[in-house]
Amino acid sequence: MCPHCYKIFETAEKNNLEIICPFCGEELEVTSKPIASLPPNAPEIVSKWRAFALELRWYSNKKWEKGYSSIVDYNLLRWIENTIEKTRNLSKKLKVFFEEIPNFGETNRLKRADIKSALDIYAPHQLVSFAVYSEIVKDLVRDNDEYELFAVAASEASKCCNLLAKWYPPLGECTPAGGVKALWVPEYTAITNPLASSGLKPLARGTLASALRAQIRASHYLERIGGTSKVSTTVILGDALDVPFPRKIDLIGLDPPYGKFGSYASLSIPHYYILKAFSNLAIFNSYNLKTIEAKELSSRKKDFQNKWKVIIEKIARSTHQNSRVVLMFTSTTVELWKNILEPFKICNFIPVAVYWVLGEGPSNLTASKVKGINLVVFKKTNTDEMNELIHIVQEEVIREAKRVFKLNEDLEREVNSKLLTALKQVFDIVSTY
Ligand SMILES: [Zn+2]
Repeated sequence: MCPHCYKIFETAEKNNLEIICPFCGEELEVTSKPIASLPPNAPEIVSKWRAFALELRWYSNKKWEKGYSSIVDYNLLRWIENTIEKTRNLSKKLKVFFEEIPNFGETNRLKRADIKSALDIYAPHQLVSFAVYSEIVKDLVRDNDEYELFAVAASEASKCCNLLAKWYPPLGECTPAGGVKALWVPEYTAITNPLASSGLKPLARGTLASALRAQIRASHYLERIGGTSKVSTTVILGDALDVPFPRKIDLIGLDPPYGKFGSYASLSIPHYYILKAFSNLAIFNSYNLKTIEAKELSSRKKDFQNKWKVIIEKIARSTHQNSRVVLMFTSTTVELWKNILEPFKICNFIPVAVYWVLGEGPSNLTASKVKGINLVVFKKTNTDEMNELIHIVQEEVIREAKRVFKLNEDLEREVNSKLLTALKQVFDIVSTY
């Protein structure tokens, strides 16, 4: 979008190259920084939030077309004004969203942007879309398990379909930011329609269609590799410390909080209110955002080690010899890695593989300089298998990733070496690395 005339055009040039606006002839630089100042006639979407531009999709000649409209477009202005009025009236019925967001870590940042109640987290168009979805789901589902699956899909979509999501210029998608310090930049906010889809083909990333399609793909994959699929769905919502785990688990993914943040609670805000809108989920009688923050498992808290051990012990009771546990974690210190790994050792797990994967997006706007995250795969052992070789895949992936975007290889290697040192010290292993 030209910051001078606000018209939108596509260019093959990328990354700081000078180009000329085909509409007004202005010389400009291609950048993902919010340098255009907001014109006063930009339509107000939410109180104090004005729109720059709109990406539209429409069905024509049996295919979906994509187009952009900037605020200089009179038709766009009229469309926004007309629909805003309608959606505002409809969203007034959603009582749960009038609740004031309680004070906790990082919420001051939201208050400064005038986000005080749950109503301010979503554009009215988004709220109405979620409300319509929840009404349809009520008529559609056969039992509570199905209902919870649809609720989880809504929660999954809500991380990208709210005002706390941010625009991700290199990928053209919205990503969750949730007001967590340094990750949420109001100027980068983009609103995604949660219902934007053609059947289950998502027309925008992170929509309800993408969330449901992921479940279907997983089910099809299992059918493909294992003959007849016996997959059924059970969603267990709750705190890993309290909820009973299934009796027998083949594969576990563990994604505990990491990084320097004191609290991840602000990341829960969009999920919390959308799940709460699915009002027959009884779990919300016992949870609110303050208690969620208080119960958060954070390596910065005193009782971290004990709670983390309880979870690994619960996992040990539910897993068998052929089960695998995949831990996603990153730390810049050997000490924290050791704290994370030790309960596995105590519970007779051994590491069998380490995979370096991208954990951060390619943007350098605000995200961490360390782009990688390590997946550590564990299996159970009851014999002394500690000398078994551990399969480590880091170097070749880092080299590949570097071809796609900027990456500080030395920094990644340094962080990786902390994990390898901790693995050696805790498990006394020999690596193929
Ligand atoms: Zn221009």
